[in-house]
Amino acid sequence: MTFRASVLTLYPDMFPGPLGASLAGKALEQGVWSLDATNIRDFATDKHRSVDDTPAGGGAGMVLRPDVLAAAVDQVADGRPMLALTPRGAPMTQKRVRELAAGEGVIMLCGRFEGFDERIFEARALEAVSVGDYVLSGGELGAMAILDACVRLLPGVMGAPSSGEEESFETGLLEYPHYTRPVEWEGRTIPEVLRSGDHAKIAAWRHERAVEDTRLRRPDLIERHGGASQAPPSGARRRDKEEKKK
Ligand code: SAH
Repeated sequence: MTFRASVLTLYPDMFPGPLGASLAGKALEQGVWSLDATNIRDFATDKHRSVDDTPAGGGAGMVLRPDVLAAAVDQVADGRPMLALTPRGAPMTQKRVRELAAGEGVIMLCGRFEGFDERIFEARALEAVSVGDYVLSGGELGAMAILDACVRLLPGVMGAPSSGEEESFETGLLEYPHYTRPVEWEGRTIPEVLRSGDHAKIAAWRHERAVEDTRLRRPDLIERHGGASQAPPSGARRRDKEEKKK
């Protein structure tokens, strides 16, 4: 089943852009997913093909008109989840990405200027999503980020199917840090335990580091996932049981 992505944007030429490269690009070529980008301006009705107008109540910038947006949305709406990119939206999460990737696809509405007329969200049941607490000049890069996150989870896209499971956020923790050769580099060495060959010890160390780094860097994640009751990753759990059997 092909995961179908439809993007509504004033800059359709930006797509597939980076999504045409690497893993996502190969998967696009192979038909694992499909992408169409529609120009919102195609749904303008006046002779100037205008898509925006001045904000009600005054203020700087221009606002995207709800009637034009609705016509664009209605053209692609077919039951797939419809996301609208806005800094006022709910922060996108790996959990939501996983849900989206398990579905038929997604429709993404990209804003520009000051954003959308607020009425469109309810009128078309759009899910307002943000890619972070900073302001982009348009929704396109946000849509690309979310699509990239979805596509890498599609069956057959990532090389090793297990490599998604203990990654950052999947367990409510940041992932443990990685190291590779050379063993010594600029006077810094790879932690001894990772070279010990003791898989139980390695799993325990990784779990400790994941918890510690999450506490330091993202205490909000620990809060959200229920404090310190973090279960170790499945690998470590299995090892713990084996240890106890002995
Ligand atoms: N005036 C708006 C920002 C508009 S930025 C505000 O302060 O909330 C223009 C467009 O860029 C938005 O309509 C949205 O589609 C996109 N955008 C900007 N920052 C974003 C973010 N953090 N997440 C998702 N989309 C964003």
